[in-house]
Amino acid sequence: MKFRALTALLCAAALPLAAYAQAPEYQTTDAAVSVPAAAADDPWPFAASDLPVDPDYRVGVLDNGLRYVIRPNGTPAGQGMVYLWVNAGSLGEEPDQAGYAHMVEHMAFNGTTNVPEGEMIRLLEREGLAFGADTNASTTFDRTTYTLDLPRNDEGLLDTALMLMRETASEILFEPEAVAREIGVIHSEQRVRDTFQLRNLLARLEFLYPGSQFAQNWVGGTEETIANATSQRLRDYYERWYRPDNAAVIVVGEFDPDQVEAAIRQHFASWEAPAVEAPASAGPIPYERQGDTEVYLDPALSAEILITRHGPYIDRPDTVESRRERVLRQIGYGIINRRLTRLAREDNPPFRSAGMVTEENFEIVRSTSLVVQAAEGEWERGLAAAQEEYRRAMLYGFSEGEVAEQVANLRAAIESNAAGENTRNNRDFMTGALTLLQDGQVPTTPASALERFEALEPTINPETVLAALKEDVVPLDNPLIRYAGREAPEGGAEALRAAWDEGMALVLQPREEAALGEFAYTDFGTPGTVVSDAVEPLLGIRQITFANGVKLNLKRTDLEEDRVSVQLNIDGGQMLDTREAPLATAMTSSLLVGGLGEHSLDELQSVLAGAQVGLNIDADEETFRFRSTTTPRDLDTQLQLFAAMIADPGYRPQGEEQYQRNVSNFFARLNATPDAALGNELGSILSDNDPRFSLQPEEAYLQLSFAGLRDAIAERWQNGAIELALVGDFDEQAAIDLVAATLGALPPREADFGAWADNRDRRFTDSRYPRILYHQGEDNQALLHMMWPTRDGEDLRETLELELLQAVARSLLLDTLREELGQTYSPSASAQQSRVYPGYGTFAISASLTPDDVPAARDAMLQVIDSLRSAPVDEDTLQRARAPQLEAYDNLLKTNGGWMGLVDRAQTQADRLERYTEGRAVLEALTPEDVQEMALRYLDPAERLEITVLPDPGEAAD
Ligand SMILES: [Zn+2]
Repeated sequence: MKFRALTALLCAAALPLAAYAQAPEYQTTDAAVSVPAAAADDPWPFAASDLPVDPDYRVGVLDNGLRYVIRPNGTPAGQGMVYLWVNAGSLGEEPDQAGYAHMVEHMAFNGTTNVPEGEMIRLLEREGLAFGADTNASTTFDRTTYTLDLPRNDEGLLDTALMLMRETASEILFEPEAVAREIGVIHSEQRVRDTFQLRNLLARLEFLYPGSQFAQNWVGGTEETIANATSQRLRDYYERWYRPDNAAVIVVGEFDPDQVEAAIRQHFASWEAPAVEAPASAGPIPYERQGDTEVYLDPALSAEILITRHGPYIDRPDTVESRRERVLRQIGYGIINRRLTRLAREDNPPFRSAGMVTEENFEIVRSTSLVVQAAEGEWERGLAAAQEEYRRAMLYGFSEGEVAEQVANLRAAIESNAAGENTRNNRDFMTGALTLLQDGQVPTTPASALERFEALEPTINPETVLAALKEDVVPLDNPLIRYAGREAPEGGAEALRAAWDEGMALVLQPREEAALGEFAYTDFGTPGTVVSDAVEPLLGIRQITFANGVKLNLKRTDLEEDRVSVQLNIDGGQMLDTREAPLATAMTSSLLVGGLGEHSLDELQSVLAGAQVGLNIDADEETFRFRSTTTPRDLDTQLQLFAAMIADPGYRPQGEEQYQRNVSNFFARLNATPDAALGNELGSILSDNDPRFSLQPEEAYLQLSFAGLRDAIAERWQNGAIELALVGDFDEQAAIDLVAATLGALPPREADFGAWADNRDRRFTDSRYPRILYHQGEDNQALLHMMWPTRDGEDLRETLELELLQAVARSLLLDTLREELGQTYSPSASAQQSRVYPGYGTFAISASLTPDDVPAARDAMLQVIDSLRSAPVDEDTLQRARAPQLEAYDNLLKTNGGWMGLVDRAQTQADRLERYTEGRAVLEALTPEDVQEMALRYLDPAERLEITVLPDPGEAAD
């Protein structure tokens, strides 16, 4: 149920220790690089750069000015991606066209010269592309992107994809009736997006950049301009910006580049280029702006203080030298943020979190910001601590040890990229193509990035890092100060300003360096011995058992070079949550913040610098799970970390404090949107208030402690069965030896996972009267949700029938609610058949609406259900629902993640392997009658549980 997500929400700190931080060479977000405007006849940055281009990228320009980027690549095997990139977004709108860039994007799916309205999505579904997941589009301030993820690399599908992109490029019809329908859909999308977070973001832009285009031209537009949209004004936008010389086609995947190039030429040469327009401006920016203060209040916000100054954009051509500077800057920001994170992990920390960044926006402005997430009522303390670290860094710089830690992490990430060079994902190359087009960043190879890093490394020291940082930071003198939160700070804006000024006058001492130890968990005693070792026949998974009971599953793949996915399951998980103690395992995800017996989390991050290891812990339905991705070189450290967390969890108070602060913030925004209001109540409605499945009162969460968690889980962690799975690039014997020396060396434990028979009952309420819930969000938002009990997932065929019914239902809901009635942005359907709770399963359909639309939508949703029951759907509808599911079967084992879903419990839930190998044929044989049969059996409209979420009518809650 959704409230289970509470655990996830509350554990923002379950971060990997040293994640695969993208090597800086590929970082694009806050260090965008741009080349100076090249000569008009050379749209590429290569001539102005001394960087060696990845020779496998093929770029070109058609006579009409259309650019294309092609990158052949075989990971994942037999797939591809086709993008149409248009170099325009909401900044290109006239005032009366606000929101039209986004609306044009929607209209691409609503009728073009050769593809009738609604057919584009259907055509792609028949080819196995799911709408939303594989077929998508997005609009930002300055880009519009159309994306197709191709499940196969056949020529016919590529041709279809390019044909559809060509239709989008210049053939959108903007039929008045289609425009009228889409107005409702866009309004619905805007309603769903109109949250307290968005309002806060827009207010922040307006405060920081008043009068600039990008503070005014929000992508969503206004309710009025959308309501007044006409074919002509949409077409005006379209013809002005959708021009071949303002767009590009990108194809990545397992294709012959000659064929792709010929196909692009064949489809796109006919796109005519109208006269060139001046580019849209994002400015103007008041660079000199300083000294202003704003207090912004919303009951759902937690306290955040933002300190900012602007400076002019620095135009840096993408060269070896500018990348060198970028690495140095990144190390500098990395150290400051590392110091701020350390403070957040202290006992009684001064703030929840804080960070410092310099962002570049739209090639017109760079803004340096210090952001502090303060504890409620403690903004002064939080601001003072963050300000002190900012000033100390700029005054005294950094230590050798701090620089060494950052360098070790960078080197590890860059080395790992180079070692994985031959199995980079299509997505990586798509990112490379987009940064080439958007930022003029030259795509280079990971091997050349490593060479450059090795040349640079001897020159990286505290002095060079500080110098590069100072060149980039806009000093925060007399800055803009913005406070956002649920209650005004005491003393208001003047107090904020006075606090900052006082802090600037303090005399600071340099930071004292703490001595660092070694990782304390490298020896777990005598290695365990292997007592059984066999390869199962279906999928070739090697299954090993150690004398102490630990099970190990191995699947070597060559899908991702230099990557090993690691997952460990310990018996128990949420099965330890009972009616009497429903929150027994709720703090599990905070365990990492509690560190190990010998190391705090912060020390761990330093002593393990340079190791590509991580640890994500959660309590799943039946097990505690540890998950990470590492490299073959770091597998030993990774396994030591897992074993140490089992043998000696630290339960340090930092983990408790962080959990409790996050609880308060979660409850403050409990009903802030219709979705949240439903998610928080649904569990208790469905289960007749069974505490295991119901959100508990805030106090219950606030009273949780690590002592309580330890009491609940310690016995399982000591004795519960363990199954460990490795998938990826590793040497089998070496891996077995490493497991023997770590998890295999732990004291003996149970061999089998528990039955937990007493805790497997779960009911679906018999009370089917309609429920009404209230949310505290905007008063034009409502949600209609209908639900039925179904069955558990033990029967493979019925499980697949219900999943197919779900896809068919979603497709019909999209047709009626979105396409015909224009009422909702994204209706949904879900089918869940439990394999944990015997007999338990649910089927649900939902739509986001305005309160006024609820009655009509209810009728339409019930009509969809009725049509599913009264007659078999037509073959085409069935095929469109099934094709993406079949493609998912075919592509599952092309990634390590897909494999892990089967390998993780290969010994103790072996039937999952059989179900996977049999499933495709069963799914393929299902008929429209089978789907009708499921609807008849389970979806009786009279038996539905219906929940309507409406705006709070306004009575004071207290
Ligand atoms: Zn949209």
